[in-house]
Amino acid sequence: MENFQYRNPTKLIFGDGQVSQIKEELKTLNAKKVMLVFGGGSIKRNGVYDDVTRELNEAGIEYVECDGVEPNPRIETAERGIKIAREAGVDALLALGGGSVIDCTKLIAAGIPYEGEAWDLVIGKATPETVIPFGTVLTLAATGSEMNSGSVITNWKTQEKYGWGSPLTFPTFSVLDPKYTVSVPKDQTIYGIVDMMSHCLEQYFHTAHAPVQERMTEGVMQAVVEAAPKLVNDLENVELRGTILFAGTMALNGVLQMGARGDWASHNIEHAVSAVHDIPHAGGLAILFPNWMRHVLDESNAHRFVTLGENVFNVDTEGKSEIEAAHATIDAISAFWTSLGAPNRLADYDIKEDTVDSIVKSAMTRGDFGNFKSLGNEDVREIVTAAL
Ligand code: NAP
Ligand code: FE
Repeated sequence: MENFQYRNPTKLIFGDGQVSQIKEELKTLNAKKVMLVFGGGSIKRNGVYDDVTRELNEAGIEYVECDGVEPNPRIETAERGIKIAREAGVDALLALGGGSVIDCTKLIAAGIPYEGEAWDLVIGKATPETVIPFGTVLTLAATGSEMNSGSVITNWKTQEKYGWGSPLTFPTFSVLDPKYTVSVPKDQTIYGIVDMMSHCLEQYFHTAHAPVQERMTEGVMQAVVEAAPKLVNDLENVELRGTILFAGTMALNGVLQMGARGDWASHNIEHAVSAVHDIPHAGGLAILFPNWMRHVLDESNAHRFVTLGENVFNVDTEGKSEIEAAHATIDAISAFWTSLGAPNRLADYDIKEDTVDSIVKSAMTRGDFGNFKSLGNEDVREIVTAAL
């Protein structure tokens, strides 16, 4: 096992009606004026906006709004949020939405007190020294952003999409009420499931000896594999929504990476694809991850795939060589995602060979990457080409 430290300061507030807790949480922060950050309007249709503003009004907390955060949030949107928050003089932020809204809120929180360009924080040219505190009301099970310090921001002009974060960018609190996720449409529900499973897989493919971490990761994935097919056929089932919601949080709140550094290459390649083509993050992952697996699989690591297949995907490995069983596992993962309704070729998004160069260039801006197996220019080209 590798050395590690673990600290997660986010207070998780899970359950029906728990939005009522935001009053106390904001009072603890001594917040008199907050900025609500949200997306294209889903919160106005599903009751989240009404519930939150009612709580704020009851507590006498003033609020301003930064709406229109797009899926795959853009640097210009965070800059706009920073401007609104500075002008209004807010002392806390409240993200109401999915990963995109929360990620954008993290950059706004760090950007308000920072004097330079917000993009400096994303590319690591500057590190946040202080941030404005923020909470979240999560409306989509997927990214884990509600309980981690990561944020992914796109610069459309330079075709760059990067993850960044700081020990200061954990939400102070996050409210997870499964009923707020009932309105998530089928396609976004599927993407969320693929994203959280991909987070588990990125952390599962490591080179350390970490059996506790591996069994926990398999446990989260087993729960998702059991609940997901039922949920996509029963979208209003609050119990299943709750299971998937909690799984998404556990998949990426740091618990599963204690003692073993994961890989994250599939996420890096997907970020490059969606920096060039504005596609849903997990739609890209469902296509790319199996191709990454086929690319990195060899005799030395096949056992890791076989264990995964046996323990999570019910793969019958009897009579198969290790390599055959590993391939059967990869096929089972891909088939599971397509059975839910996820895409499995880049052509499904009309992505063709003519942009492979741009995707590879975007993926390689920071040099070789990958911990399970290091990838260079040609590896990325092969993976993306195999996914076309
Ligand atoms: P999202 O981009 O936040 O939301 C996708 C869509 O779902 C939006 O159109 C949104 O509509 C809609 N939506 C959200 N909640 C809804 C609800 N309750 N009912 C109906 N519609 C709803 O999706 P996401 O998958 O959570 O976030 C994706 C982003 O997170 C990507 O940029 C990805 O790269 C990033 N990411 C971050 C992390 C991390 O750790 N920080 C990890 C993985 C990925 P509205 O705009 O109208 O609300
Ligand atoms: Fe992700």
